[in-house]
Amino acid sequence: VAATVLVVEDERKLRELVRSYLERAGFTVLSTGSGAEALTLAGSAAPDLVILDLGLPDVAGETVARELRAAGGPPILMLTAKVTEEDRIAGLQLGADDYVTKPFSPRELALRVQAVLRRGAAPGAGTAATSPPLRSGCIEVDVAARLAWRAGRELTLTVREFDLLAFFMSHPGQAFTRAELMKRVWGWSFGDQSTVTVHVRRLRDKLEEDPASPLLLRTVRGIGYCWDGGPPTAVISNP
Ligand code: CA
Repeated sequence: VAATVLVVEDERKLRELVRSYLERAGFTVLSTGSGAEALTLAGSAAPDLVILDLGLPDVAGETVARELRAAGGPPILMLTAKVTEEDRIAGLQLGADDYVTKPFSPRELALRVQAVLRRGAAPGAGTAATSPPLRSGCIEVDVAARLAWRAGRELTLTVREFDLLAFFMSHPGQAFTRAELMKRVWGWSFGDQSTVTVHVRRLRDKLEEDPASPLLLRTVRGIGYCWDGGPPTAVISNP
C-alpha cells in the first residue's frame, strides 16, 4: 500500500511540482494551500506524513505543526525559507521531524520523505528489533515495543527521539559527532546538523534531572555527544 503524503503549500506551482514528483515516486498525495484545511485533512485522511510550508496565508505553519503534534499526528517535514540556524531550530522545536530549506531539489525532498517514513516503520537504528529491553541508569527502553521509561514512568517520545535514545543506549560510553548521528540515526549523509542538536535538546528535556547540566546524555567537547547512563543491562520484565 502506497504511503499517503499531505502536502501543505500555498504557492500553487511549488505545490503541484511537489505533488507530481511524489506521485511519480509512488506516493498517494493530498494537497492544500490552507493551514485550516490541512488540519481537517490530517484528521480525516490520516496521512502517513505531512509536508508543511511554514509561510501559509491563513493559519501559521507553526500553529499547524503544534496542533498536529498535540493531536499525536504523523511525522512532519517542514518546508522553510528561513535560513538561520536559530530559525530552523525554532521550527524543529515545534515538533517537526525534519525540514527542507527552500529552494530544494524534488529529488532531495523525495529522499527525505522516504527517510522519515522508513524511520517511522523501522525499529531503532543500530539496534535489533528482537533485542531485550535495555536499562541504563534510570532509563529503560524496549526497542521492540518502542517504549521508554524514566524511573518507571513511561516517556512520550517522537519517532526520532526514540531512535536517538535507543541508539545511544545501544552504544554506551561512545562519543558520536553530529554527522555520525545524522548518518546512523537519520540515515542521511547530507543535511543540516542542527537537526541533531535540537533532538538532543528535546531528549535532555525529557530524560535529565537538570537538562542544563546533563548527566546521561553528555556533551563531549569538540566531538559531540556520549551516553553516560552506565552500562546497559538487559531486563526481563518492564515496570
Ligand atoms: Ca508559503
